[in-house]
Amino acid sequence: MASLETASPALEVLRRVFGYDTFRGEQGAIVEHVAGGGDALVLMPTGGGKSLCYQIPSLVRPGVGIVISPLIALMQDQVDALNALGVRAGFLNSSQDFEERRLTEAMYQAGELDLLYLAPERLRVPATLDLLDRGRIALFAIDEAHCVAQWGHDFRPDYLGLSELHERWPKVPRIALTATATKATHAEIASRLNLDDARHFVASFDRPNIQYRIVPKAEPKKQLLDLLRTEHKGDAGIVYCLSRSSVEKTAEFLVANGIDAVPYHAGLDSRTRAENQARFLREDGLIVVATIAFGMGIDKPDVRFVAHLDLPKSVEGYYQETGRAGRDGLPSTAWLAYGLQDVVQQRKLIEQSEGDDAHRRRQSQHLDAMLALCETVECRRVQLLAYFGQESTACGNCDTCLTPPESWDGTIAAQKLLSAIYRLQRERRQKFGAGQVIDILLGRKTAKVIQHDHDTLTVFGIGEELSESGWRGVVRQLLAQGLLAVEGDYGTLVLTDASASVLRKERTVLLRREKVTKASAKPAKKAAVDMPEEAAPVFERLRAWRAATAKEQGVPAYVIFHDATLREIATSSPQTLEELGRVSGVGENKLAKYGQQVLDTLNA
Ligand code: ADP
Ligand code: ZN
Repeated sequence: MASLETASPALEVLRRVFGYDTFRGEQGAIVEHVAGGGDALVLMPTGGGKSLCYQIPSLVRPGVGIVISPLIALMQDQVDALNALGVRAGFLNSSQDFEERRLTEAMYQAGELDLLYLAPERLRVPATLDLLDRGRIALFAIDEAHCVAQWGHDFRPDYLGLSELHERWPKVPRIALTATATKATHAEIASRLNLDDARHFVASFDRPNIQYRIVPKAEPKKQLLDLLRTEHKGDAGIVYCLSRSSVEKTAEFLVANGIDAVPYHAGLDSRTRAENQARFLREDGLIVVATIAFGMGIDKPDVRFVAHLDLPKSVEGYYQETGRAGRDGLPSTAWLAYGLQDVVQQRKLIEQSEGDDAHRRRQSQHLDAMLALCETVECRRVQLLAYFGQESTACGNCDTCLTPPESWDGTIAAQKLLSAIYRLQRERRQKFGAGQVIDILLGRKTAKVIQHDHDTLTVFGIGEELSESGWRGVVRQLLAQGLLAVEGDYGTLVLTDASASVLRKERTVLLRREKVTKASAKPAKKAAVDMPEEAAPVFERLRAWRAATAKEQGVPAYVIFHDATLREIATSSPQTLEELGRVSGVGENKLAKYGQQVLDTLNA
């Protein structure tokens, strides 16, 4: 903090308006650069603190900061949060009626705004461009900048038009921000937005407060319930499922078990969807069970866990979804249950997907990278960060670091499995799914085994040393290692080119040992947030006050104060307004507005 001690205007705004002492990471450098009129391309993980990077320069520079964001549904909350800080903000999007729009436009022209949020499609309308000309523009912030990348997963055609901003207003600085960027996306953003002269700020993609855990899937709903009960009682969180029906069933299951949960997927009518999202943002401790349709730009800072009941399609998707946990920097959990069926299902989806072979190959590569992450015996974080081109060392806060998996020599098991498949294929010209192959290995005389005369195969009963779930683990791991493949609607197992080297005993196969029997292997250190015992009831009182206040004002609870701020208040128990003002997250405006109420709540 010493180097910034000169109290630049930016630092002064950070302290007075936002109530924070110091900039985080590269924030300070970014803010100074943009405030000084420079262009910037900012790659920072979710929760890294991107908003301040354009909000503070907008406040420091003369004129209005124009923020382009595709997240129309969130604009109201963003503006409410800024207003609560005493910042003059407005938005223009299709959700408004004429009168609301006119009012905002008038404020813009009169220079009565610090920030104006716009949906990208607004800029296609000449009237909007003319309007912007009638006011003074402090800067353009292009949020979710990866939406300009045509090969990315969130492409929005309207973003392509944003390259014109520079032509029309060459002197206005631009800052593009995103939390998702592999090297290719990064380069595409820079070129499509004509940000050639921009300074690039690439923050570490690490989210140290998120604990990554990937467990073998046995009874996923029960495993989830166990996780919620033991580690995340009363916490807000997101549960991702692949299909609408599993979303519905999982939400019902949680509710039936006394846990507050609502569903969210594209099949629900838009009112229910909006209502469930609003409840999630506004209430404390609600769980949303959702397909991936939910979450883009969910700004809620206190999401304590993200759970995946199905395998995500790519590491990028997984990282973005899990990134919604713990934006406030407090300990959070990313938990994924994954099983053989996931691999079969995903391969099937890829086979059936529209598009050409190149497209399918790309999807396959994405899946392979995801499987490699699931099956790794090394630190999950090291592997995740490596995927984004960042080197790191074992983190100590993921399941493989906390309870290192044992590996075992699975060469013989692999040979047995592959030769069973080989025999079926060669001797019988048959292909079967994992279930039948495992029954054969275990020597089970099921109706289907007898019907196909499989008990006469030489491989019948040669695999009794492993249990059924043990074999499923072997199948899954061979699939992940490319030593086996699945095809067709029924997920039949087939050999790959690489299988031959195992069958010819030319290579050894290392597998990770897993304990499938227990619902959830408990990590050595749980991710839940700890607080001194005496502070807990105070924190709850403050939460109750916050809930009531938020309800009264019709804003999300975090707009009043973040959990992290309430926690610090509960532990430090300030006695005067001045002491309260020193707590991180208590700025001038909030101190004036809520300070006395907070002190009263503390002393109640
Ligand atoms: P992003 O947009 O990158 O996901 P946000 O801008 O929403 O991240 O910031 C994440 C959280 O970190 C917010 O709760 C924000 O108030 C907090 N935050 C950002 N910068 C700072 C800072 N310098 N000091 C303390 N808290 C900060
Ligand atoms: Zn680790």
